[in-house]
Amino acid sequence: MKTTIIMGIPGCGKTSIIELALKKLKGEYKVVNFGTLMFLMLKEKKLVKTRDEMRKLNEQIQIDAQEKAAEKIADLAKKQNIIVDTHCSIQTTKGYVVGLPEPVLKKISPDQIILIEASSEEIFKRRVKDNTRARDADSVEGIEFHQQINRNLALTFCVLTRAVFSIVHNKTGRLLIGSKELAEIIHA
Ligand code: AMP
Ligand code: MG
Repeated sequence: MKTTIIMGIPGCGKTSIIELALKKLKGEYKVVNFGTLMFLMLKEKKLVKTRDEMRKLNEQIQIDAQEKAAEKIADLAKKQNIIVDTHCSIQTTKGYVVGLPEPVLKKISPDQIILIEASSEEIFKRRVKDNTRARDADSVEGIEFHQQINRNLALTFCVLTRAVFSIVHNKTGRLLIGSKELAEIIHA
């Protein structure tokens, strides 16, 4: 069984590119959205009403939910190939929370880590336009900085797990090309 982690900052088009890539993948893969697992747990405890409220919660609550989500993923991965849709780091009110701190990363134990990137200008425009989510607007410079942080983090995750690393670019108007590339990398 293979576990692939796909990461990228909000607005990079991660969920869309994964959905399209999935149609091109031959084997059986189950996509698990890390944020959804956390959200369902926190919603049940009445701590949030929407997924975009989670990153405003107390840091320890986010960390506990993160650990529980990782346990669920580890359990699912025993039986099937898993693609995890998640974040290298989350911009919170206190600073960046690492998406996969060591205990969480070790539980998931990925074989492959793929970072989805787009130009910071494009991400900035997408966030302003997206009214389906409460995206943080940030600035082009802030988005650039967050993407730099994530490259460093993603490689650190690989150092700790031996996972192989790739970057896939999701350019505006080129979603099909990006998803094809993503499917090929996952399948390789
Ligand atoms: P998304 O729908 O992928 O933008 O994720 C929604 C939310 O889920 C994020 O804003 C975070 O609050 C939370 N989330 C997703 N992955 C992680 C993670 N690895 N660690 C902590 N929180 C996460
Ligand atoms: Mg998403």
